[in-house]
Amino acid sequence: MAGRYAPSPTGELHIGNLRTALVAWLLAKSTGRECRLRFEDLDRERVDAAGNLAASQAQDLASLGLIFDGPALYQHTRLAAYEQAARKLEGRLYECFCTRKEIAEAASAPHGSYRPYPGTCRNLTEEQKREKRKTRPAAWRARAEGVSFTVHDRWAGDFTGQVDDFVVRRGDGTWAYNFASVVDDMYQGVDQVCRGEDLLDSAPRQAWLTELLGGKTPEYAHVPLVTNCAGERLSKRDGAVSMGDLRALGMSDHDVLNLLAESLGLPQNEGVEALIERFDPLKKPSGYMYQRMSTM
Ligand code: GLU
Repeated sequence: MAGRYAPSPTGELHIGNLRTALVAWLLAKSTGRECRLRFEDLDRERVDAAGNLAASQAQDLASLGLIFDGPALYQHTRLAAYEQAARKLEGRLYECFCTRKEIAEAASAPHGSYRPYPGTCRNLTEEQKREKRKTRPAAWRARAEGVSFTVHDRWAGDFTGQVDDFVVRRGDGTWAYNFASVVDDMYQGVDQVCRGEDLLDSAPRQAWLTELLGGKTPEYAHVPLVTNCAGERLSKRDGAVSMGDLRALGMSDHDVLNLLAESLGLPQNEGVEALIERFDPLKKPSGYMYQRMSTM
């Protein structure tokens, strides 16, 4: 049994990411699980443009005392496993030649944040596919037949969402997040997925895919995001938000852990090991509004 933390090494971890990592780790440990680390580094262009931050992210996590079980998994080393998993879905995948723009134009008005794929390429004839292949390389989509899927979130309760025909492999050959993440959760023995609340919407499609691949759907636990004083999601513009920024302000690693512990209603001046016992896995972590600290 294991939980996990799965950052993308495309930006420095900020205080919100670190807080989610701490919750994921404490939740896993306080429910008798190991906690694994995985770097979601498939988008090489973005990873390289950011200067590949996996090592510095691992260091920031370790400086808070977050030591993960087993070696970190790097998704770029897993391409053969994705090929193999995709083969299991063969009858379910179809080629899609749409550009983002075409999809936006063809889609009906979004229902909330949900904008299902309009199905343009769902039933192309062989002839049509042959023609379209000349224009651009195809992405692969999963044929979900509009099913609804219900997941269980430890704190939000049952959550039902419609599964869209999501992308499994992009036109440039990059394996897509939803697919790779599910294949790797299964590979890493993950039965508890704890992450930011912004990904709750993805849970039904990921759980559906897990079942399709013969796995058991995990328990989910989505953590409210840290916001700035305007109630918006935290970003670089909000002053000192990364470990490096906070160190530059004279904060020690210990101070940062205290800040995170306080934001979670946990006692200060204790190491993460001691916090395991203090953490209540039944209680949903509160949201947290981060007071701007100037980097000047
Ligand atoms: N890699 C994703 C991110 O950094 C998280 C994915 C997940 O936890 O499922 O936002």
